[in-house]
Amino acid sequence: MNKLLPFIFFACAVTLLDAQEWHNFDKYQETITRKEFCRLLDRVYNPSKAVYAYLNVTDEYVEMFDDAEKATLDFTLYFAKPGESPRDAKQTFKTIPQLKDLGNPASKPLQGVRIVIDPGHIGGKWASMEERSVIWNNNPVIREGDKNLQVARFLKTSLEAAGAEIYMTHEKPEPVTSTRPKDYVEEARQKVYEENKVDEAAAAGRRAFFQKLINWRAELYFYRRAEIAQRADNIRAKFLPDLNICNHFNATEKSGSGEIVKDNRHAFFINGCYGPDEVTNPMTRYFMFSKLLEQPLQIEMAVGDALTKKMRKIADLPPVKYGVEKYQCRVNDNPYLYARNLAVSRQYPGPCVILEPFYMNNAWTAERLAAGDYDGTRQLSCGTYRSIFREYADAVTEAIVESYSHWTVPSSKLTTSADTPPPHQ
Ligand SMILES: [Zn+2]
Repeated sequence: MNKLLPFIFFACAVTLLDAQEWHNFDKYQETITRKEFCRLLDRVYNPSKAVYAYLNVTDEYVEMFDDAEKATLDFTLYFAKPGESPRDAKQTFKTIPQLKDLGNPASKPLQGVRIVIDPGHIGGKWASMEERSVIWNNNPVIREGDKNLQVARFLKTSLEAAGAEIYMTHEKPEPVTSTRPKDYVEEARQKVYEENKVDEAAAAGRRAFFQKLINWRAELYFYRRAEIAQRADNIRAKFLPDLNICNHFNATEKSGSGEIVKDNRHAFFINGCYGPDEVTNPMTRYFMFSKLLEQPLQIEMAVGDALTKKMRKIADLPPVKYGVEKYQCRVNDNPYLYARNLAVSRQYPGPCVILEPFYMNNAWTAERLAAGDYDGTRQLSCGTYRSIFREYADAVTEAIVESYSHWTVPSSKLTTSADTPPPHQ
């Protein structure tokens, strides 16, 4: 992900919400107290509190309105009564009590745990359209989507060795959506004309300029909006997971021009921190409440913290620093872990952690990526290292095993690290 190109503007680029959709929240009646609902909203999902313009919160219920005038009611959610235990929401993923019921052996801590691995982007011939490639020295171009797939394949093997059931959103560098940029040209044209306040006749005077903008936007609708929506649909239809892991390599805004930077940092994202302008859109509010009511936070924070610890063992880099706080916020004392409204974590069901370690356009990272995959260690100009893909996959596996073992393996069965799966040598 390019840190200066957030997904936020896609919050509004979605179809109108069917009023019936709100009834998906029926199962959440009395599953959360008012105190916890407001704590999650204020602390994680909408720290700007802009969404309260669309809510009427009482001790017994919250009314969710379609408009700031509060004329059209979308949904009324009743809170669990104080002093009474909230009803079970029957989430699509295993909650911590359900994970504890697994009672797994220490040798198979992930037995019965369903994990989606989503290697970020498409890669292959689509990488330049995705603006996800970097060239380092005289090496062949490094396409992020391909590198993410390489990590994901190792990750699948080692998580399966720990007992997990795995679904990969894609296994080769091809889109899962059957649509293509040409399918979005007309929509992109309307949007570009609207944004530039021109009509067909006015645009004709600067045809090349506008055509470039239209093509860029149509491609964006294809490789980001449609592709991610299709991956989300496939996950819902084929494999409801207990955890989604989206693996990326990060890059700075200079990667597009092939510039190598000295800086190198890690960041990890979970869903949350919907911006004040984003929550003006009913669809975005629907997504936000969907995530809040799923209550995936405790799992996401445990996995996010464990991932941070393990990735820092590969390279103890500083965290990415963000300037505009209204679009991302910290959720605990981990300075690497941010809540942010991203298309992936907004749409994938259940706990979701997005990994953005390393800058691909840093010389150390780029050399390690350019070295490709290999057995054992290899001497590079930046040091002697194992394959970065295996190190990355092993760190993620160790983090998931470590965080889930606390829940899935009874403490009497927890033994030493001898039971953890062997790393990829
Ligand atoms: Zn990426």
